[in-house]
Amino acid sequence: MRTPDKAALGVALQPELRPEQEAGGGAGHRAGQRSGALRGLGAQRRTGRYVGLRSRGLACAVSLVALATGLLAGAAQGVAYAADVAPSVYAPISPQRMSDAMKVLGSDAFEGRAPGSAGEARTVAWLIAQYKQIGLEPGGENGGWTQRVPLQHTRVGKATRLQVAYATDTLPLEQVKDVYFTTARGADHLEIQNAPLVFVGYGVHAPERGWDDFKGVDLKGKIAVFLINDPDFDAKPGEPVAGKFGGRAMTYYGRWTYKYEEATRRGAIGALIVHDTPGAAYGWSTVIAPGGEAFDFEQSGQNQSLLMQGWISTPAATQVFAKAGLDLPALRVQARQASFQPVTLPHAAFSLAVPVEVTHLESQNVLGKLTGSKRPDETVMFGAHWDAFGMSKDAQGHEVIRHGAIDDGSGVAGVLEIARAFKAGPKPERTVMFASWTAEERGLLGSGWYAAHPLAPLEKTAANFTMDVLQMAGPSRTAYMVGAGQDTVQDDVVAAAERQGRVMLPEAMSERGAFYRADHLPFARAGVPVVALMDMAGYPDLLKGGVPAGRKWLQDYMVCYHQACDAWSLDWDVRGAAEDVALLYNVGRTLAFSQAWPQWKPGSEFAAVRAQSAAVRGGH
Ligand SMILES: [Zn+2]
Repeated sequence: MRTPDKAALGVALQPELRPEQEAGGGAGHRAGQRSGALRGLGAQRRTGRYVGLRSRGLACAVSLVALATGLLAGAAQGVAYAADVAPSVYAPISPQRMSDAMKVLGSDAFEGRAPGSAGEARTVAWLIAQYKQIGLEPGGENGGWTQRVPLQHTRVGKATRLQVAYATDTLPLEQVKDVYFTTARGADHLEIQNAPLVFVGYGVHAPERGWDDFKGVDLKGKIAVFLINDPDFDAKPGEPVAGKFGGRAMTYYGRWTYKYEEATRRGAIGALIVHDTPGAAYGWSTVIAPGGEAFDFEQSGQNQSLLMQGWISTPAATQVFAKAGLDLPALRVQARQASFQPVTLPHAAFSLAVPVEVTHLESQNVLGKLTGSKRPDETVMFGAHWDAFGMSKDAQGHEVIRHGAIDDGSGVAGVLEIARAFKAGPKPERTVMFASWTAEERGLLGSGWYAAHPLAPLEKTAANFTMDVLQMAGPSRTAYMVGAGQDTVQDDVVAAAERQGRVMLPEAMSERGAFYRADHLPFARAGVPVVALMDMAGYPDLLKGGVPAGRKWLQDYMVCYHQACDAWSLDWDVRGAAEDVALLYNVGRTLAFSQAWPQWKPGSEFAAVRAQSAAVRGGH
């Protein structure tokens, strides 16, 4: 293997990765966002956004890798990988300490770190002890180390009514077969009586792209019916919409979470997304996998969330529309036009009655900080999630611990190392916050809660750096940028990688929307510029063994992803992960001593919300 070769990687990054449990089908409107980052489809990348970045990176990489390894001839000719990486590439991050931390977090005693479990109590206590030992200040609520995150778990039971009534007859629907819904409300019974159904196309409101599917339609008390993905996902070349939403790559507007949020904002009581496998990137079996369960924030008082949210199969939707005299395939084509108008299904009335089992649990984010010496109200944030999948039965019915040593013990270990590095150096001018989030695996709930209840102002949070699943296969020439081209901190990371003699590549399967599946997302949605490092986003080009060895590592890891065998191993080479952590540390440190405010790129769907608070940043 040679120095990073996009074409080779493109070929290499193909489907052997197995489909995983994207609970995107409906385990709550946030659940499972993170899983599914790497199901293999053809890697058709978003073009035109990252090209300059990549070629610049590649050009430098050849010489810098050579300098770093002293192996120009070997690397260029694709032979020897014997030379090792200089520790200076990852200093001051210690691979050994990272390994030690993952060993503890992934140990049986921590019981797979499920939110609300005894494993949580141990994890939180251990993290606080680490933060103290490093010398951080408490960054949580009321001068403490934690932030309380109230969660609810719902499971819908068997519906006593689920139907669409028309002028003269009624179409019964079946949960799991025709539709799959969950609820984010904390009520023990759901009832919807004769709600109108409104088809809103892709349901996208994107002023920066000149697109609004809603055209002011009133959704109050109604069920909004959406198509999945972006308006240009099915577009043919030459159609006006083609490329407007990144082509086959998914923008946030394409995510099911976005559709539910938009329905909620507009006062709808329910949202149904028409499932199609290419658009969703997973089949109906994945949609129904959560079995009616959903995690969410605890709902109380003014309850704004949807009564019902979920999916309807294409065959069922086609029938529901046909009985109202509408042609769904024709409407799908219309929905690709900016002039699309929402369509209320004539004489159709949706009804649902179903019992719901509701349980409440409480969990904790763990936060430490170093207060800035000059601009304490400005914050640079590093984060990873401490939670994993806890204990549950495996396919053979045995109780197992899903250790989560790498997911996301690796990210937490990285945050601790970065904290240690900051503490050892001069006091940062901006405050630096170190976060260990809960309930990421339940749908980005810990980070989402913080973004909704920030402990440092988000308008003055300069950037969020998130690490989720770092590779354990040793020094690598590459790392993958998830959601490349969104903001200027990402450019800083690309440049910092070059200084390491490494290359940032865009994630291999951007149509999978990995950018929308980790703890940086709630910050992006709140306007905070973000960088996410996820080594599941592509095969690393390892110094030892190149891309083939990187592919083997990731394929082996995917077998253990969210399983018991995501466990600590003596065989790990943590130096590659340490390189990645050092990368974020270097960029974050510069930012912590800087007065600069990173910016979203003009085309980003997150630019507008940041712009609203530009005044508090002196116009930046
Ligand atoms: Zn994770």
